[in-house]
Amino acid sequence: MRTWTTFATLAAALTIALGVHGTGHPLHAQARASAPALRLYVFDGGTLESDPARYQLTKDDVKVTQLSVAAYLVVHPKGVLMWDSAAVPDSEWSPTGSPVRQRLVLNDGQERFVTIARPLAAQLQAAGYKAADVNFLALSHFHWDHTANAGLFSSATWLVRQIERDAMFAEKTVGTSRPATYAALKNSKTVIVTADEHDVFGDGTVILKAAPGHTPGHQVLYVKLPETGPVVLSGDLYHYQAERTMGRYPTFEFNVDQTKASRAALETFLTRTKAQLWIQHDWTAHAALKKAPEYYK
Ligand SMILES: [Zn+2]
Repeated sequence: MRTWTTFATLAAALTIALGVHGTGHPLHAQARASAPALRLYVFDGGTLESDPARYQLTKDDVKVTQLSVAAYLVVHPKGVLMWDSAAVPDSEWSPTGSPVRQRLVLNDGQERFVTIARPLAAQLQAAGYKAADVNFLALSHFHWDHTANAGLFSSATWLVRQIERDAMFAEKTVGTSRPATYAALKNSKTVIVTADEHDVFGDGTVILKAAPGHTPGHQVLYVKLPETGPVVLSGDLYHYQAERTMGRYPTFEFNVDQTKASRAALETFLTRTKAQLWIQHDWTAHAALKKAPEYYK
């Protein structure tokens, strides 16, 4: 068993190191035959100061007002997918060994504060990856706190819905964005996702699922982990648990009726698949997760 695991890990590492994910390559075939298990790495993008009133909630409703910022890496035998890219670009701050409170100015002049301890690239590196190893990039949506380091992954194939891409590169983008952080994606190799459920690696284990409303092409990510069980990464379909339990919606949705429909569809999906929902901004839940270089399998 130990030998098998070591071999599978080595085969996966070789596949990733060589950037091989086409069909028919011997290494690829070898990796697939030995079927290394899926891995999900969780990265910590810091703590975002937040006002629950923006979500039609009170401080009593939410207990913890601050939000977590997360990013994730899915390692599959056929490639590596980055999901979201945190809130503070690595290029805009330097680690000091202690958490740094960073001020960010959004497209419309609003300011936000995120306290961050570790750059995303350093967390990737600790897990054994560089940005160039990432084959696919998918963003839940284009708000600033998900796109900060998107430019690091401009060599990856970007998986995006047309309506979201159009909003991102429109002459006038929404205020809660920072277009400079994702400008490099404009020239990335791009796959326009059209299906409600897009099976990234073709085996049903990693699925981009449309969940519009927060933004026009907002999506969530389903990852069917063999040991942990299936997980859905929420994007911003919810921010606080109380939105889910109390049926509250952000005040700044692109289309709140779409969000209602997306939430209803996702709840049905969660029941059917028995998947856990990981609310990416839920500070308490995110704090309890293992962080890279540890991973979920
Ligand atoms: Zn967000």
